Amino acid sequence: LATHKEPPAILKTKLQLPVKILTSPGPTNCSERVLQSLKNQVLGHLHPEICQLMDEIKAGLQYVFQTNNRLTLVLSASGHGGMEACLTNLLERGETVLVVKSGIWGERAADMAARIGVHAEVIETEHTSAVTLEQLEIALRRYNPAAVFMVHAESSTGLKQPLEGFGDLIHRYNALFIIDTVASLGGEPFFMDSWGVDAAYTGSQKVLGAPPGLSPISFSPRAETKLLQRKTKPSSYYLDMTLLGNYWKCFGNESRVYHHTASATLLYGLREALAEIAEEGLRASWIRHASAAARLRRGLELRGLRSYVKIPQYQLSTVISIELPPGVDDTIIIQRAMKNCNVEISRGLGPTVGKVLRVGLLGINATFDKVDLILRALEILPSKL
Ligand code: PMP
Repeated sequence: LATHKEPPAILKTKLQLPVKILTSPGPTNCSERVLQSLKNQVLGHLHPEICQLMDEIKAGLQYVFQTNNRLTLVLSASGHGGMEACLTNLLERGETVLVVKSGIWGERAADMAARIGVHAEVIETEHTSAVTLEQLEIALRRYNPAAVFMVHAESSTGLKQPLEGFGDLIHRYNALFIIDTVASLGGEPFFMDSWGVDAAYTGSQKVLGAPPGLSPISFSPRAETKLLQRKTKPSSYYLDMTLLGNYWKCFGNESRVYHHTASATLLYGLREALAEIAEEGLRASWIRHASAAARLRRGLELRGLRSYVKIPQYQLSTVISIELPPGVDDTIIIQRAMKNCNVEISRGLGPTVGKVLRVGLLGINATFDKVDLILRALEILPSKL
């Protein structure tokens, strides 16, 4: 007789979840408008309404990436999927990628590259300073890479990597320019076409303010050429940008070609999140994020706390890292902030564990009232411990 497992009693209880203020480096809270959109009934992934929605999303993404790239679409994956898609599609086994590592994300990219047989050469910066054009040029000469991978907003350290001028330099050495904008897009100025970026991706749950689970991505014509000239197929079917481009009707194809079943629900949320950014305007959004971060930094200074990243041009508006004062237990701070103020503060990540506290001011949470709440939650620090 086949064994029979009873239904789990735990599932008989009603789902009940608290509402928290998510001011970690992500995910952030969704707006009411985004939440409302998630209640719509599921539709088929190739129904005309969803096809229309995909076109609207593509237009919204071309706006937030500031690009005319036709190969602009959404991966059914979180931000890691975007990273993996760039490396898997734009590099072939045996080629070299030059990775700028200022924290955990460069490290992950190097790990992913190694898994697909790509040599990763790493330039490591201090956690609190970005790579310069001069440093990059030396490495380009030495390694002759097929692509360079950089992170715009290194969320583990709070470091902003300036990007202007890098595209021209990298193209002079015949390499492709890949950028992770997961923790910056929409909150920090980013100009994909003007800055000569060939591949960029982000995550739906950060500044955009949609639920996690989608990774918007865009490839330049130069990146498309590399795709066409590949000698071998990318090792991942799921992340194959040529197949995905056919599904998202990026190549002037008459009709969409089924590749996988995208979540209609997540697309509703992303569509509304992009509509909100379009209504506010990118420039206004960048200014709002910068003003909120400036207010937080001033408040921290008044409380005797120091930014981990000292040089203003390298400080992010979206993720603010605070030096953990000696003798202060980050776990206690974080627990108290949640218990007393219902607000989320994060500990360090990867190389910054035990060294920093991190605050994310992303999307609808980049406001003065959220900043003041965070400062209140930090008031207990450090004297009252
Ligand atoms: N890159 C950066 C800069 C990030 O901040 C994150 C998420 N914290 C990721 C990549 C990975 O994104 P996800 O967790 O959505 O896979």
